[in-house]
Amino acid sequence: MENIKCLIIGGGPAGYTAAIYASRAGLNPVVFEGMEPGGQLTTTTVVENFPGFPEGVDANQLMADMRSQAVRLGADIRSGVITSVDFSKRPFSLVVDGETGIEAQAVIIATGAAAKYLGLPSERKFRGMGVSACATCDGFFYRKKVVAVVGGGDTACEEATYLANICSKVYMIVRRDVFRASQAMRDRVMNTPNIEILWNCNTQEILGDESGVTGARLVRKDGKVFDINVDGFFLAIGHHPNSDVFKDFIDTDENGYIITDGKSSRTSVEGVFAAGDVQDPTFRQAITAAASGCKAALEVERFLMSN
Ligand code: NDP
Repeated sequence: MENIKCLIIGGGPAGYTAAIYASRAGLNPVVFEGMEPGGQLTTTTVVENFPGFPEGVDANQLMADMRSQAVRLGADIRSGVITSVDFSKRPFSLVVDGETGIEAQAVIIATGAAAKYLGLPSERKFRGMGVSACATCDGFFYRKKVVAVVGGGDTACEEATYLANICSKVYMIVRRDVFRASQAMRDRVMNTPNIEILWNCNTQEILGDESGVTGARLVRKDGKVFDINVDGFFLAIGHHPNSDVFKDFIDTDENGYIITDGKSSRTSVEGVFAAGDVQDPTFRQAITAAASGCKAALEVERFLMSN
């Protein structure tokens, strides 16, 4: 069976940065990119807050460049999803795509997080037929149409303003009477004339027919139930960490985020480290994910030297 010194799981900013550092340290890292190479950033457009790009940078280009940098320095980047692990002894055993076994001396988990859904049966029914969790991926299909965005955080505000450029009208469905989003994002929404905010509203049902979504039934805090006509329904209510496959071995918090040891990227299993959004419910930025990937690789280097 193939035995790897440093196995990195995940191809987002954390995984690629870990690969860059591990390659330069001579650890010959192997990276499994998972189902979303490039990570969540590939679902956005321009990144304006990653230092070093005064004019902003295309998100897909940024990720492609991080990947190329890791490859140039020697990282072995492969497609494939880790479907099961055994972290009970070293070398650790992992299975790729349900069939190929692989062993590793040290592991960095950088699997990120995935979008949350409301959990309505109608939402499942119309997924891909008007229901989406990625405005930048699917907004194009709703040109000059009416859409709704659920959520009141930075993601929801960003997606609503993005969609407002494409669509004739955007409803924002916000469950409280305040945004969670930062002041800058709030201001941007408030200054966009074709966004209408529906405060204190929850979605009871997504309405549609065989052609897809046609509307949504909402219930306001005061009990009033009413329908809106929309062609697209976008979820922007937060994320779920991609840690399920590791849970039998690694300690997580009540929301599934992997618990790391203070400022370190050490997990509850010696030799397994975690970086990026899978262990970060707070900051969840590309730059913080990249920084934690760097830390994890440096810690793997130290760990392998002393073990
Ligand atoms: P958040 O957790 O910040 O916000 C989630 C939003 O969805 C909240 O308004 C929440 O309401 C609402 N919500 C959650 N569950 C439900 C539900 N079941 N029904 C209706 N509404 C619901 O997630 P985000 O994805 O917006 O942001 C995650 C992190 O990423 C944040 O730290 C954010 O600052 C950051 N971010 C930064 C960006 C930037 O800097 N450019 C861009 C995007 C995100 P409630 O407030 O009532 O809990």
